[in-house]
Amino acid sequence: MSTAAGYTGRFAPSPTGPLHFGSLLAALASYLDARALKGRWLIRIEDLDPPREQPGASDLILRTLDHFGLHWDGEVVYQSQRLELYAELLQRLIDQGLAYRCRCSRSDLKLRDALYSYDGHCRIHPPDAEAQCAIRALCSEQTVTFEDLIQDRQIWQHEDGRDDFIIFRRDGLFAYQLAVVADDHAQGVTRVIRGSDLLDETFRQLQLQQHLAYPTPEYGHIPILLNKLGQKLSKQNLAPALNTDKAVKQLWEALHLLGQNPTPSLQRASNRELLDWAVTHWQRDHIPRTLAIRSSGS
Ligand SMILES: [Zn+2]
Repeated sequence: MSTAAGYTGRFAPSPTGPLHFGSLLAALASYLDARALKGRWLIRIEDLDPPREQPGASDLILRTLDHFGLHWDGEVVYQSQRLELYAELLQRLIDQGLAYRCRCSRSDLKLRDALYSYDGHCRIHPPDAEAQCAIRALCSEQTVTFEDLIQDRQIWQHEDGRDDFIIFRRDGLFAYQLAVVADDHAQGVTRVIRGSDLLDETFRQLQLQQHLAYPTPEYGHIPILLNKLGQKLSKQNLAPALNTDKAVKQLWEALHLLGQNPTPSLQRASNRELLDWAVTHWQRDHIPRTLAIRSSGS
């Protein structure tokens, strides 16, 4: 368990658009858990995929967090400024035989019915030296388990090779997992509270932490919010941006969904009063494992 003094948490949005209510839930849960245990709370902007990013989104996200009263510690870290570190770790994994070059294109994978579950092809048939390749990390453990702080014990089982995952893309961009593991370690993150849409990624990150001999943070995955079509609230599904004119209302609603039972009178409080109340009364074990469907428009 993290001790109060050593707790470091973080919120790590991608600047693909403005924050929506689903991102507020994740940010708020992570913020409150850290603050309730007198921990640090950091912000990291995961800007590794320029084609998917929206100009100005990073600044907008930071302004929105600030407006909601979710104040962070220290400097904001931008992944786009840390490519040297990722390149160094990538090389280390290759040198240690824990990652390998893969030249399979999407159509190759489709032909071999390996699009959603890789078949380990390039483990056995290494590509030519000059071929343009992605890099895959080995998934050597066939059973990965961890105790989730909210969802309880999680177990991931897979066949050898079928879950080797991409950490560097053929188009020359670093993939999500390597950067996240590198930064969580470099920033001393001890506990990650985030949405359960990232549960599968957690297993991959545990593998990478093992490969790199990094300690594993504690993880807690809050339930994800669905729109009325049963889809995850996300930028892709056009979830509405947070309304900064109604910060208190949205914070109150987020607290309610997180099982924190804010009293109705707190709807008339200021952001600060509401957040201070929430830090003092934070009960992580009241967070439900699943969430009721919320209408998309509100
Ligand atoms: Zn391959």
